[in-house]
Amino acid sequence: MIDLRSDTVTVPTDGMRKAMARAEVGDDVYGEDPTVNRLQDMAAALLGKRFALFVPSGTMANQLAIRCQTQPGQEVIVESTAHIVRYEQGAAGALAGVQLHWVPGERGVMTAEQVEAAIRPKDPYSIPTALICLENTHNSGGGTIYPLSTIEKIRAVAVKHGIPMHLDGARLLNAVAATTLPAASYAQHFETVSLCLSKGLGAPVGSLLISSEQGLIERARRYRRMYGGAMRQAGILAAAGIYALEHHVARLKEDHDHAKKLARLLQQIPAVRISPQHVETNIVIFDVEDQRRTPAEIVAALRGQGVLINAIGGRRYRAVTHLNISAKQIDEAGAVFARVLAP
Ligand SMILES: *Cc1c(COP(=O)(O)O)cnc(C)c1O
Repeated sequence: MIDLRSDTVTVPTDGMRKAMARAEVGDDVYGEDPTVNRLQDMAAALLGKRFALFVPSGTMANQLAIRCQTQPGQEVIVESTAHIVRYEQGAAGALAGVQLHWVPGERGVMTAEQVEAAIRPKDPYSIPTALICLENTHNSGGGTIYPLSTIEKIRAVAVKHGIPMHLDGARLLNAVAATTLPAASYAQHFETVSLCLSKGLGAPVGSLLISSEQGLIERARRYRRMYGGAMRQAGILAAAGIYALEHHVARLKEDHDHAKKLARLLQQIPAVRISPQHVETNIVIFDVEDQRRTPAEIVAALRGQGVLINAIGGRRYRAVTHLNISAKQIDEAGAVFARVLAP
């Protein structure tokens, strides 16, 4: 099977499994797991920040960021198709008691003008705006890279209004690989950043919440426990994360090349609508014009030929390249798409 449903389907390599087996561990609730501590230090340093907290999922990292920087009854500005809006089960409302203020972006990217217009006036009857969340790269937007210049402009607005910023950086290192800008050049504009180890980086589990504010990370540690995310000998998992940061960052560029190749192959198929110039990282979003079959039938037909992708609503589909997809498999997938989507 050529599994292009998501970069979360990656499985640990032999090298990663060996690193996990060898990991020195301790009880992380006591702060005594040396491997977790090492991963946290590495991640903080990578982003030019002082502290990091290892958590089970990207959702938890985002939700801790929201919980620690808001009060119940406040509002968080977020792009309308963000992971925080679509895929976190309403956690911001359910767990932090905040309201999300959706701003429709262009392939996931908001402008500074839009963000400023969404900030509530400071008066006795408007809900206070507590936090601004950006997502880089933007998943539903199609792996879109937030231009650094746009982030700088949004940051200037945030500073002017005294509002902190959180970056959902689940795939921040994909943006780094594509632009060759240092991760810290993005991270410097945010009070908190989340980073996923279990996407293109290929670890089985784990994300980090990263910040330079010690008090914030201490509060996040308490809420992590409240949310059921405090783990014990988590060094087994952190070792996979360290291995991923050491061995799987430089190769992300390969995934991007594969995605661009796939986009060019898809473009040659008459039924496919795609803009290859919008494929900036490892996510390929495209439409299929097919009056005969439903999206579920098209997905099943592709599956029958050995290619897995996701239908994401309407006539739209998503294919994601990753660690376990080779250049040869991209060519094979291209041939399967051409066959299955032929008129
Ligand atoms: C995957 C993802 C997350 C976190 O997902 P988990 O499954 O909770 O680890 C957060 N943000 C974005 C943009 C993602 O793609």
